[in-house]
Amino acid sequence: MESRKAKIVCTTGPASNNPKTIRELIKSGMDVARLNFSHADHNTHQETASIIRKEASALKKNVSILQDLQGIKIRISEIQEGGFNLKTGEKILLYHGNDISSREALYISYPALLKDVKEGDRILIDDGLIQLLIIDKSPKALVAKAAEGGFIKSKKGANLPYSKTTLSGFTEKDKKDLEFGISLDVDYVAISFVRSADDIEQIIKWAKQKKLNLPPLIAKIEKSQALDNIEEIMDIVEGVMVARGDLGVEMKPERVPLIQKNLIDLANKKGKLVITATQMLESMTEHTRPTRAEASDVANAVLDGTDALMLSAETASGLFPIEAVKMMDKIIRYTEKEKAPAQQLISKYQGTNIFPEAVAEAACEAARSIGAKAIVVFTHSGFAAKLISKLRPSVPIIAFTPDEKTLNRLPLYWGVTGHIINHKDAKILDSDFMVEIEKSLIKENKFKKGDSIVFVASSPFLGKPNIIRLQQL
Ligand code: PEP
Repeated sequence: MESRKAKIVCTTGPASNNPKTIRELIKSGMDVARLNFSHADHNTHQETASIIRKEASALKKNVSILQDLQGIKIRISEIQEGGFNLKTGEKILLYHGNDISSREALYISYPALLKDVKEGDRILIDDGLIQLLIIDKSPKALVAKAAEGGFIKSKKGANLPYSKTTLSGFTEKDKKDLEFGISLDVDYVAISFVRSADDIEQIIKWAKQKKLNLPPLIAKIEKSQALDNIEEIMDIVEGVMVARGDLGVEMKPERVPLIQKNLIDLANKKGKLVITATQMLESMTEHTRPTRAEASDVANAVLDGTDALMLSAETASGLFPIEAVKMMDKIIRYTEKEKAPAQQLISKYQGTNIFPEAVAEAACEAARSIGAKAIVVFTHSGFAAKLISKLRPSVPIIAFTPDEKTLNRLPLYWGVTGHIINHKDAKILDSDFMVEIEKSLIKENKFKKGDSIVFVASSPFLGKPNIIRLQQL
């Protein structure tokens, strides 16, 4: 079977964090497992990470682990008797804190509530179902009127899309979770509610002070402030996630589809990874088949050029986690077979990597003109593989690396499969090395003697790609 190019990220949770389900998820197409630190304790995540590594190794598959930090998630407190109905037009007082809420006073967890929220701003509760308009302010409370009322339930999320939030998004919980994630050797870390490059720089500085080796960072784009600063954010991270859940609350829903397309386009132009996330097959949390709109959503993300697509509740808490992955795999494969993305032949990067870009482009072009079966790339950090992946060649990209950490990060790269190789240094094109590669390719069953291959390498090995070799196996 043709290999799938766009990758699948599965969120783990109570519906999936057991050996049997993880094994089936990997067999069905999971490339990246997401540990969502908004839920579950450290013990549970540790156990899940260990199951993922064990099952992937037993199946001889590489699976990346993506840690997702909660960030500054704002919630309302517990409510007397679980909730109350607030009619449109009714007034209510809003306080910062965690005391029990009632219809007289609603407590919100954001410490700078009174400083950052101004008259005329709106606070959205429960994914925007309830909208509170701020009409007055005293030193201790905000006075709000329900612009859109409804039943307010305990502990629901609150969004402040109209207010410029000033508090650091990197919370004490995030610090503890990140230190723990690094101890688990996670492959990527996703940062929630990023607003500017400053938010990311803070994390990099903190890790440096603590002498921690920070994994590559993925900025979750879910706030309008992030869109205002998107270029500087992308320049500092490994990739972005189009986090459509919160984004669709913070912004009007009609804006989300084009924001998705623009973010994917910009990430691809800048050579950054991009994951499209949330509600992709939402109805499969309860049913074995998706809606037509969901099938279209998955196909459209593929056509937009995303590197990866993410399942959330579908695999974390839904009734049919395996069926959801199988369905996503089927839709992606069909879409890619019928409408392959255009190969990018003109360098679209920003010019800081002119030699490697020229090598990557030439490799893609050579693969096309000689009818190569694959582009094979020797890569230490994964950089060369990512560069070629971003040009979207029509043939598979097979990456060989001596570095276990790199191997574990490759599953997120579009069109790339990874292998470990024992050579550590320079003699890239000597015969031992080439024989080892050829053997490994032929063992895969997808290649036979006489097949043409384009090899990309760097010499010295730790340098950037500067060699192309065309070869028949
Ligand atoms: C989102 O909001 O789309 C998202 C991916 O974040 P989370 O699942 O953490 O809310």
